[in-house]
Amino acid sequence: MTTVTYRPSTPLPVIAESDVIVVGGGPGGLGAAVMAARAGARVTLMERYGLLGGMASIGEVHPFMRNHAGAECLDRPVYLEWIRAMGRYLPPAEQDAYIAGAGGSSRMISKELAALAAEDLCLEAGVRLLYHHAFADVLQSNGRIAAGIFLSKSGLVAARATLWVDATGDGDVAARAGSPFEKGGPSGYCQPMTLCFKLSGVDKNRTPPPAERHQLFLAAKAEGRIHCPRENVLQFEWFEPDIVHFNTTRVVQKDATNGVELSDAEIEGRRQLREILAWLRRDVPGYEQARLHSMAHHIGVRESRRILGQAYLTRDDFLRCAKFPDGIARVSYPIDIHNPLGGGTEILHVPEGDFYEIPYGCIVPQGCNNLLIAGRPISVDHAVHSSMRVMPPAISVGQAAGVAAALAAQTGRKPAELEGTVIRSRLKAMGAWL
Ligand SMILES: Cc1cc2nc3c(=O)[nH]c(=O)nc-3n(C[C@H](O)[C@H](O)[C@H](O)COP(=O)(O)OP(=O)(O)OC[C@H]3O[C@@H](n4cnc5c(N)ncnc54)[C@H](O)[C@@H]3O)c2cc1C
Repeated sequence: MTTVTYRPSTPLPVIAESDVIVVGGGPGGLGAAVMAARAGARVTLMERYGLLGGMASIGEVHPFMRNHAGAECLDRPVYLEWIRAMGRYLPPAEQDAYIAGAGGSSRMISKELAALAAEDLCLEAGVRLLYHHAFADVLQSNGRIAAGIFLSKSGLVAARATLWVDATGDGDVAARAGSPFEKGGPSGYCQPMTLCFKLSGVDKNRTPPPAERHQLFLAAKAEGRIHCPRENVLQFEWFEPDIVHFNTTRVVQKDATNGVELSDAEIEGRRQLREILAWLRRDVPGYEQARLHSMAHHIGVRESRRILGQAYLTRDDFLRCAKFPDGIARVSYPIDIHNPLGGGTEILHVPEGDFYEIPYGCIVPQGCNNLLIAGRPISVDHAVHSSMRVMPPAISVGQAAGVAAALAAQTGRKPAELEGTVIRSRLKAMGAWL
């Protein structure tokens, strides 16, 4: 690749100074920002787009997966508060059932309500929101982030914080700060990306049962009318009865942290969408009049960097439902690996009613002394990542990063010097179920 040398020497305006800056406003960033603010820190959340929610909004991901032990929801308080805040925007007759969650099962997501409700929680907690600021780089000094560099409509700007929380989903901040990371599984590739979309105008009185639809899907693939490596059609019901949500496109062997490959993945995801829409209208009863209701503004990224930390959790820890004195989040969601190379999905459950714990060290990155990781890109292997990545536990991981960042900023200690058992106790006192 040819290169050019770009060394801007002009001073950059410092547009934010805080105890804690959270970069990224998805589920992990939401948990981190709200809990850091409640723990007494001055918090700024910087997000590249104009809304919060991450994959729940820009990625049109739906629904929230169930992460329970028996009837107990493992993700509190921020996940349940987000649900309650979303519920308040529903028509009055639907609110109670949504908030109660039909016995605590998976819950439906409207991307608009996810964004509105996340903003409500942050503003209520006193978080300063800075939208349209994309993280680009760090300035470092003595193993610490001295300033973050962001790109906005104002050009390049800087921000300063005592503690930083990387909630970009991809570990962008940690990677620029020099923390080591892993990517992918045994094949060397990450889980595939998926462009989610919804169709309206579906006559569900006439749609075939899943087994019949599956045969029609396989036939269209065999005839070369669908080029999608996914093994079946993954779809979900939504709030409105004529709308169906599709999590069916599968874009393999692309790296979401490579700008060109990410762009190519968007194009490939939408190419598959066009084929699936044409197939449904032509072959599947009930879909003849279907319309494209909505689609993700950003292709769904399941996996990219996993930032190596003070601790590391493996498939063996998942299998033995490992528990730790400094466990900061609990996960019962299965290993759920969409084949990075093509068709097939591995699902492996923990025993009913049990869970494993994520120790504090998994969110404390190596190589940087004033940084914590929130959300999915933590120090776990490919298999554990496939389990803890779903949104409810990603929020819980973020909560711990927020509480630890606030404590580190208030005490002048490095995250690696904090005792994980203290973070766990503080989380419990603030409403976590640990
Ligand atoms: C296709 C697909 C289907 C899924 N299905 C489900 C499901 O059914 N249920 C479920 O619970 N989970 C599901 N998941 C998993 C879940 O959505 C994600 O793992 C989860 O959202 C991770 O949260 P996060 O906060 O770590 O990252 P994200 O949700 O990705 O949020 C990251 C945030 O950081 C921002 N950001 C990124 N880079 C920068 C930057 N450089 N500067 C500033 N801001 C930045 C982004 O805009 C975004 O707002 C699915 C994921 C995918 C991709």
